[in-house]
Amino acid sequence: MQISFEVYPPRKPEDTPRLHEAILRLSELSPDFISVTFGAGGSSTRDSLSVLKFIRDNSSASPLAHLTCVGTTEQDAKDLVREFLGEGITDFLALRGDLPEGQSEMPPGTLSRADQLVSLIEETRPSGTGSTAVAAFPNGHPESGEERSDIAALLAKQEAGASFAITQLFFFTQDYLRFVELARARGVVIDLIPGIMPIVSPSRLARVLELTGEARPGELASSLESAEDAAGRREAGIEWAARQVRELAEAGVARVHLYAFNEYANVTEVLRRSGVV
Ligand code: FAD
Repeated sequence: MQISFEVYPPRKPEDTPRLHEAILRLSELSPDFISVTFGAGGSSTRDSLSVLKFIRDNSSASPLAHLTCVGTTEQDAKDLVREFLGEGITDFLALRGDLPEGQSEMPPGTLSRADQLVSLIEETRPSGTGSTAVAAFPNGHPESGEERSDIAALLAKQEAGASFAITQLFFFTQDYLRFVELARARGVVIDLIPGIMPIVSPSRLARVLELTGEARPGELASSLESAEDAAGRREAGIEWAARQVRELAEAGVARVHLYAFNEYANVTEVLRRSGVV
């Protein structure tokens, strides 16, 4: 199975050595790429770029740069893509991003959908020099409604030149497999890489449910809550994620993306237990 990881720019400068150590350890598992989030948690372009450069210089994995549309004009986005290209970063994950709380409309003159950013990246990057990924949502994007407009969005992103998608976290393998079937029936042909997040505390679970709008996985929540200590919570979260990876492998899925939370031990254990490494 091919693997990849997501990390985020450190929130405080003193967290940087720990992230670098994690990247080096994750690189030993031969991932295809390590992606770096953008803008999330208030991080800046500089913060993302410096992590991407560390991956570029210290890992055989490709650095994959998340980019978002929020508050970005076409010109800003082009400049940003050129800046990344200038640093040898040629692979992108094009995202819309989310508006800050309290705002409901994208500012006029700015990009408002991820497919626009995909087109812009494809136009700006010399042809044949990199790839553009996009986001996909097994249980639907929070704004996508019954008709699953997230799948129309995914088709638009594919049409604009995206070559694969990484999914939002999900808790049940069947949700992912049903989504792939639905997306294929609607004409999506690109690879849909499942995103797996080991969740090792009730507070992290609460936070990701708030951010993603996913339904609360009752069984996982009670194992996390009833565990006696941090070791028991870690065991519950890792075992859940490892089971997901095992089930995906059994279903013939060839690639998996792990949300690493800037550390290596948990995701490494998930991959070890599921027999991937
Ligand atoms: P879009 O593809 O633009 O879609 C958003 C919604 O708009 C769709 O669900 C649909 O309802 C509607 N829509 C768009 N296009 C169409 C269309 N053609 N037809 C009909 N409806 C349409 N956020 C960050 O800020 N930084 C990050 O680094 C980051 N990394 C992420 C990584 C992954 C793997 C994932 C899954 C999400 C990430 N996010 C990140 C969050 C993401 O920005 C939000 O989930 C955002 O709300 C949606 O982004 P998108 O790219 O899917 O948007």
